[in-house]
Amino acid sequence: MSTHDPNCIFCKIVAGQIPSRKVYEDEDILAFHDIQPWAPVHFLLVPKRHIASMAQVGPDDAALMGRLMTLIPRLAAEQGCNPYPEGGFRIVCNTGVEGGQEVHHLHVHVMGGPRPWSRG
Ligand code: 5GP
Ligand code: ZN
Repeated sequence: MSTHDPNCIFCKIVAGQIPSRKVYEDEDILAFHDIQPWAPVHFLLVPKRHIASMAQVGPDDAALMGRLMTLIPRLAAEQGCNPYPEGGFRIVCNTGVEGGQEVHHLHVHVMGGPRPWSRG
């Protein structure tokens, strides 16, 4: 089931060809720290399979995306996001050029931790 785009930086991270600081991994999903964090906690969740963006997601991806999203509270807490409601976190999924997406392999940003943040 895994597709790999040899020109995709996140496929290379999934394959271990580019190193990353891993947060979580299972058969279908990888989470790793963003190389240029905006916040004290800033990691990315990606499907291991190359999906270019949220614009390509459909009904067949419901289980994968459901698992990816429902991992977020647990991983955010493990990585140091403070508890809701005083703490919390921000989820961002830039989609397409006008959506601000720079890496065209679907990823969800999770940002949190004490303010101020360097951006956002
Ligand atoms: P986008 O603008 O596509 O939503 O965000 C892409 C994110 O990927 C950026 O926050 C950027 O810092 C991060 N990023 C780009 N290249 C690498 C890399 O090689 N390693 C890691 N860990 N993060 C990266
Ligand atoms: Zn990819």
